[in-house]
Amino acid sequence: MDIFCKIINKEVNSYTIYEDDIVKVFLDVNQKHKGHTLIIPKKHYVNLFDIDTDTLNYIFKVARNIAVLLKEALNYDGITLLQNNDYGQEVKHFHLHLIPTYEKENENSNIEEIYNIIKSKSSTR
Ligand code: AMP
Repeated sequence: MDIFCKIINKEVNSYTIYEDDIVKVFLDVNQKHKGHTLIIPKKHYVNLFDIDTDTLNYIFKVARNIAVLLKEALNYDGITLLQNNDYGQEVKHFHLHLIPTYEKENENSNIEEIYNIIKSKSSTR
């Protein structure tokens, strides 16, 4: 079983910022930039060629909402959406990266602090 299926089954912990019946949204353990987030479908799809278009559309709808939430929480300057397939894809379970970018970034922010800032914004929405 891949690591993201284990996160969905709660066998592995994650810093989850949103979930519903279709998707789970959590912080990437390796924060390339502050607020680096992954959106995954709860059903197992390997990649872009495997996933159905309804789920794919839904993931992008959620991505926009999460991008707005991250902007409110972290005030990034830009945001990059990235999705790897096959070569260069470490985890073989479809996932969309949301990677905030900053003109100036404080290197010291840790994942727990970032999580708490995002959660404090999402609970007031
Ligand atoms: P990719 O290269 O697109 O397959 O990226 C996989 C991403 O999953 C990497 O950025 C990893 O840091 C991230 N990752 C791997 N394991 C975990 C985990 N247990 N929780 C959160 N993110 C993870």
